[in-house]
Amino acid sequence: MTSARGFAVLSPKEQLVPFTFERRQLRAGDVEISISHAGICHSDIHQGREEWGQALFPMVPGHEIVGRVKSIGSEVSSFAVGDLVGVGVFIDSCRNCDNCKAGLQQYCFEGMTGTYNTLERDGKSVAYGGYSNLIVVDQNYVVRVPETLEISGVAPLMCAGITLYSPLRHWQAGPGKRVGIIGLGGLGHMGLKFAHAMGAHVTVFSHSEKKRGDAQAMGADDFIANPSNEYFKKNGNTFDLILNTVSVDLKLESYLSLLRLDGTLVLIGLPGKPYEVPAGVLLGKRRRLAGSMIGGIPELQEMLDFCGKHQITSDVEVIDPEYINTAWERTVASDVKYRFVIDAAKF
Ligand code: NAP
Ligand code: ZN
Ligand code: ZN
Repeated sequence: MTSARGFAVLSPKEQLVPFTFERRQLRAGDVEISISHAGICHSDIHQGREEWGQALFPMVPGHEIVGRVKSIGSEVSSFAVGDLVGVGVFIDSCRNCDNCKAGLQQYCFEGMTGTYNTLERDGKSVAYGGYSNLIVVDQNYVVRVPETLEISGVAPLMCAGITLYSPLRHWQAGPGKRVGIIGLGGLGHMGLKFAHAMGAHVTVFSHSEKKRGDAQAMGADDFIANPSNEYFKKNGNTFDLILNTVSVDLKLESYLSLLRLDGTLVLIGLPGKPYEVPAGVLLGKRRRLAGSMIGGIPELQEMLDFCGKHQITSDVEVIDPEYINTAWERTVASDVKYRFVIDAAKF
């Protein structure tokens, strides 16, 4: 066992506090990673505050992890000490079901094993996440990060990045396609950068005027703050794909009406309560309402290579661990440009 330092939520009503705990002894297939940066995802807050149901405490959140390999188990062949690597939203899965075999571990029949707020597959060990100086992960759930990328901006790629890259690829965003991104937060700003790099025409829908300049600098072709009924009427039947990254209540019907024949609205944000959707808006133009969750290990690697090629990273505010509680408050208030990343060397 190795002693690790981090920050934890002890109960859903409390602030995060410094926390010391044990990481498991290195197994033959394990990689020990000295964490350099850990991103703060809105999902950390949803879980730490039990907004998605009962959670497991003490909780060390964090599933946007980047760092260098510190040591390797005896059977590790794909990584060497010193390699720059990343870990995302899951650290294991059944490895045998059709989806795992297809490299879509996030959709494992038995459920992926999350990076935190869950027990590992032995049913006993608690998985502690990336708000920490160290982590030990099976080599099959670790990916390689291009050395050319600015390291602090890499951590958010591991959740925010892949979560937008995957649906953009699946629904074939590219030249000649009109893509909408709802919400320019941690996820949304990565979606904008990727869709722009893929050559699509990108429209950002935001709940204020504040981010207009930033959106344009990141490649937005259009920026619409609080779209009016007039806007929805005028722009009906013009979008191929819309990705909804917000977790507040939205009138989906209006956004669905923007889609052209066979267009798709993908739900990515996870609100606590169900949406209401009238059937007419779907069947009238054979529109689709879909969902998408992060991405599998092969696609994570593909995304990181794409980022290396196009020099894409997240826009980040790097913080010390003591600032995490304030960072959570500011994330909820949508007051971050565009992801908080913890300097993990300071734990
Ligand atoms: P975030 O950084 O907080 O961004 C959410 C964005 O929602 C804000 O930046 C804001 O953008 C927009 N928004 C709209 N109305 C708002 C309001 N009334 N108050 C505050 N913000 C409002 O969150 P995130 O980390 O990107 O995560 C977004 C959602 O995706 C969360 O529900 C998270 O749990 C979920 N998620 C899903 C997956 C998946 O695999 N499907 C993966 C990771 C996270 P504007 O200012 O531009 O409106
Ligand atoms: Zn996340
Ligand atoms: Zn599986």
